[in-house]
Amino acid sequence: MKYGFGVDLGGTTVKIAWFDEAGTLLQKWEIPTDLSDRGKNILPDIARSILAFLGENNIPKGDVLGVGIGVPGPVDKDNVVNRCENLKWGVFDVAQAITDLTGFPAKAGNDATVAALGEYWKGGGAAYENMILVTLGTGVGGGIILGGKPVYGTTGAAGEIGHMVLKRGETLPCGCGKFGCAEQYCSATGIVRTAKEYLQTHNTDSVLSGSEKLTCKAVFDAAGNGDEAALKILEIVYDDLAMLVANLCNTLDPQIVLFGGGVSKAGNVLLEGVGKHLPKYIFHACAHAKLGLATLGNDAGAYGAFKLILDNL
Ligand code: ZN
Repeated sequence: MKYGFGVDLGGTTVKIAWFDEAGTLLQKWEIPTDLSDRGKNILPDIARSILAFLGENNIPKGDVLGVGIGVPGPVDKDNVVNRCENLKWGVFDVAQAITDLTGFPAKAGNDATVAALGEYWKGGGAAYENMILVTLGTGVGGGIILGGKPVYGTTGAAGEIGHMVLKRGETLPCGCGKFGCAEQYCSATGIVRTAKEYLQTHNTDSVLSGSEKLTCKAVFDAAGNGDEAALKILEIVYDDLAMLVANLCNTLDPQIVLFGGGVSKAGNVLLEGVGKHLPKYIFHACAHAKLGLATLGNDAGAYGAFKLILDNL
């Protein structure tokens, strides 16, 4: 049996997982992401942690197939990261850097694309070779798998679906500097904003009205308890999400669209809510697409990162 590492590199922590070649996650741990000095310690820290793990467990280097890594920025098919603002990285070959540090074969991808690969391999997208993962967290991210392969695009920026434009005339800027991006309405932050705007412009006795620190979860909870304003707010959110999903389906014709990230914890009500609004926007020949939930949670990135290695042996 051979083994390998799947690494999910985030802005605050690095998740490192140890897999066997069948894809069983055997062990996982985290180390902090050192953002000092333009992130130049990050990869050496990862290499040190990996080599220490092998040493402590007396694992021969010959048993290691390689190190796959998901990076929070655009990474092209040749492992070159194209400026990663979160980590203050420039342009370089991430896989080559890891190989230089560890001696193992390495492969790098964008973290959201890699998470989609993980869900395709072992999660909610298993058995669907054409699938899209839509991650609804503080932002909106995504990954596209077509024919069982991740789609990278020219610079590795394919799947930046949070910046698909949903609205004209938006006056507030998105984090990316543009106006009207899906992320502004469909992220947890965007849902809270929609809720605040609704409450400000409607006279309601909603439980949300007096809330000082309104959260996305509070909106879903209130709706679950039958709060009328919360239900109306979620209809707006589901409509926005349905437009995003339909635009994706009309372009890529996937078998399934999975929701992941914190907002997806709402579960089936989210799928039903979005599903109800989809027919308004979806092209008839793409309307077969199913909606589903990601199942690997925070481990999706590690699974996908290791799969990059298996796919490139
Ligand atoms: Zn944007």
